[in-house]
Amino acid sequence: MTTCRSITNSPDYAYAQSIAYDTVLTCNQKNLPISVKKIIRDIPNLHIQKYTSFAKKNDLTLDEVYEELDSEEGCLWMRKDGQFIIFYNDTVSNIGRSRFTIAHELGHYLLKHNELTKKTNLSRYSLSESEYDIFEKEANYFAKRLLAPIPLVDTYLVNWETITAECIEFAFDTSYTVALHIINDIDKRYRNSNIVREHHPMVNNFIDFINRDSQTKLCLTCKTLQPTKEKFCKICSGKNFLESAYKTYTSFYLERTNEMKYSGFKLNEFYRATTCPKCGNEQLTETQNACQVCGTNIMNRCLGEMPEYPMTPSETIQSSGGCGQGQYGLSGDARFCPFCGGITSFYYQRLLKSWEDEKEEQEKRLQTLPNSFSNNTSRVFASGATN
Ligand SMILES: [Zn+2]
Ligand SMILES: [Zn+2]
Ligand SMILES: [Zn+2]
Repeated sequence: MTTCRSITNSPDYAYAQSIAYDTVLTCNQKNLPISVKKIIRDIPNLHIQKYTSFAKKNDLTLDEVYEELDSEEGCLWMRKDGQFIIFYNDTVSNIGRSRFTIAHELGHYLLKHNELTKKTNLSRYSLSESEYDIFEKEANYFAKRLLAPIPLVDTYLVNWETITAECIEFAFDTSYTVALHIINDIDKRYRNSNIVREHHPMVNNFIDFINRDSQTKLCLTCKTLQPTKEKFCKICSGKNFLESAYKTYTSFYLERTNEMKYSGFKLNEFYRATTCPKCGNEQLTETQNACQVCGTNIMNRCLGEMPEYPMTPSETIQSSGGCGQGQYGLSGDARFCPFCGGITSFYYQRLLKSWEDEKEEQEKRLQTLPNSFSNNTSRVFASGATN
């Protein structure tokens, strides 16, 4: 990629934005938050190193590293062999802030600030004051647009109609300060031009993730995620949900780290089990309703209200009504109908375990694992971050 840029008197924000958006578009990521480290790993002559590793390697204290690298946050260095290294302070406890620092240094690299000045190190002392100022502003702008691209924020907005800084902070893993900047940018855009949505081809890569993230709810009883539009929990039949809405997103995000997965059976496109859940018979046609070997009903349908536990042959199930909404079949893990809360044919036939039993089993299994394997994710709240 060849670009002809020369140093001007003012920051080129449009350029910084277009490079940031191109980077997001071509980085082969589909989930948020965007991994800046993965982007860096994909650039052959760019490397990343922690301050603590630099200190250890050169036998320096952290204060000496700050002095040596001329920054307490991070910096971009060009080695004599043409390789670039991003150093970042990994002792900063605010994750959003260190992500911003790394994105900022990546900005210096991709905006070719080194080439523009022919300097190997972009420090305050090696650049003129105005050069330094322009580069800093461009790199900050780049970082903000890379971490939380407006077209992706807009995709959340389509689902929620409104958004807060906390939503951006959690969905995009930025500092609170950066999230506030984004909110201001969106407000300003609306006031100045009445624009409510920007499109960019990158949206296609992330739309499935964002729609799932913004249109689901978490059952607080059994801890499973389900589509917002469904009324009852398909696992526990409860209605105690926490929705992913702009008002509740922070707690939704935090609660979601406890998500559970319950067992289920693989279904074909006609919602029939591909292997009989009871006897293991694999000689099944795509659309048959019951296994010819053991008589088990292999389509998971809503049966509505049924007597406690079945001792009945599959004809009882065939003839039972259900609510009809799931007549084309429910998912292979559904114990209950998400539309009416009725029992499903899989659960009625005792093909699926009750969620309580399964939860207990999973918790027991987790307890026997060493600590590092348990999936307790901790998220440090951002506060007073730099921008
Ligand atoms: Zn549930
Ligand atoms: Zn069977
Ligand atoms: Zn139903």
